[in-house]
Amino acid sequence: ENKPKILVLGAGYAGMMTTRRLSQQLNPEEADITLVNKHNYHYITTWLHQVAAGTAEPNSSRVMISDVIDTKRVQLHYDSVVEIKKDEQRVILENGELSYDYLVISLGFETATFGIPGIKEHALKIENIDSSRYIREHIEFQFARYSSGVDKNEDNLNILVGGAGFTGIEFVGELAKRVPELCKKYNIDREKVRIINVEAAPTILPGFDEDLVEYGKKSLEDRGVEFRIGAKIQECTEKGFVIGDDREEINAGTVVWTGGVQASPIVSEAGFDIVKGKVTVEDDLRAPGHDNIFIIGDCSWVMDKENDRPYPANAQSAIQEADTCAANLQALLHDEPLQSFIFDYKGTVASLGGSDAMGTIFDDKKLFGMKAKAMKNIIDDRYLYLVGGPKLILKKGKVRFF
Ligand code: FAD
Ligand code: NAD
Repeated sequence: ENKPKILVLGAGYAGMMTTRRLSQQLNPEEADITLVNKHNYHYITTWLHQVAAGTAEPNSSRVMISDVIDTKRVQLHYDSVVEIKKDEQRVILENGELSYDYLVISLGFETATFGIPGIKEHALKIENIDSSRYIREHIEFQFARYSSGVDKNEDNLNILVGGAGFTGIEFVGELAKRVPELCKKYNIDREKVRIINVEAAPTILPGFDEDLVEYGKKSLEDRGVEFRIGAKIQECTEKGFVIGDDREEINAGTVVWTGGVQASPIVSEAGFDIVKGKVTVEDDLRAPGHDNIFIIGDCSWVMDKENDRPYPANAQSAIQEADTCAANLQALLHDEPLQSFIFDYKGTVASLGGSDAMGTIFDDKKLFGMKAKAMKNIIDDRYLYLVGGPKLILKKGKVRFF
């Protein structure tokens, strides 16, 4: 058969939504659709800080791909992408290879270390279900070692988090809830455990609304989180972080780095131009110079021409880019003009652990506390609806109707 082959790499927000849209929009005779993903499940990346802290079960963030993708319409390959040979229109997998006419690269992020010595070797990272579950188990192991007397070093109860962007802040919020539970379970005095978040910028959540930052900081401090702001992490050792110009050492048994993200390494290895860790794509989301390759989600930057800077690369934009990407693939197949991506910013809401949260909706309306938390749950459920319809909301939804 000579049907065009569309190959989607990675079943994160961007890849899952593109595949769903394509399977809804294209007739089976128009194109073959193939989705490749490392695992047979999709994970809800935006919940991984909870898995890492131990306030949510790993399985709560897992969605079986075959439950939400039409397997009659889409060929699923559970395999790892090893290399993209764009000049040959082929993708090498760990256990085989695939060719394509159109490629969607949506392999997501990896943690950026910015060359800081020791981060790669010694810090834990919130990247996927397995790495997040490892953090949860590691923290509990430190408590078990201390309470059993195997380890008498109190420093090892400390949890050190590098970077106070949204991931770092949401994570320490969950820790503020989890640590008292662990203290109770292992009969350890809460005062003995420090949760320390280190940030290089003069404030946590640099660039975010000042009132909300202040609210978040106070809420977290009230629940026992210590902040070290204006403190650049210079190095990570087996014992903890070395911070600031005077190279102060902070020791902890658990060290987690949440200092930033960049595109999957597969993208740079394929020979695309990388700027600040990602590929800057054209307005129609195609890779510059490649008419048949789209790069979306955390692998790319899409420029906001009005402000001359990229749109935020987050789940919200990944989902919206998937719509444009699917529409543009359809346009290519139909020989129609492609559309430019326009980001519809719906706001940013961050959870702070328990029933607390804060954020903005519709550009400038500020929400605090339980109202913000309710909004966060609605945002989470909206995504479940987009990816899996009402069935998935019933299974994993956060909004309680009764
Ligand atoms: P990903 O979600 O990273 O998905 C990539 C997929 O590709 C995964 O399924 C992975 O298994 C697969 N994959 C990777 N490499 C390979 C390979 N070699 N072979 C095969 N498959 C592969 N954004 C928001 O808008 N709101 C939030 O509240 C929010 N909260 C967040 C909380 C946390 C803790 C984190 C870490 C991020 C959060 N973000 C949030 C950011 C958001 O999660 C990312 O921007 C989003 O996940 C990007 O989607 P993606 O599809 O590009 O990639
Ligand atoms: P980020 O890049 O947004 O934040 C990283 C933080 O680490 C920054 O504040 C930076 O100043 C700090 N940092 C970097 N190097 C440092 C050093 N050497 N020493 C000390 N601090 C250092 O990364 P992130 O928080 O992982 O977020 C990634 C993306 O995901 C962002 O787009 C973010 O908006 C999004 N996200 C959104 C939400 C939400 O909307 N609720 C939650 C999590 C993540």
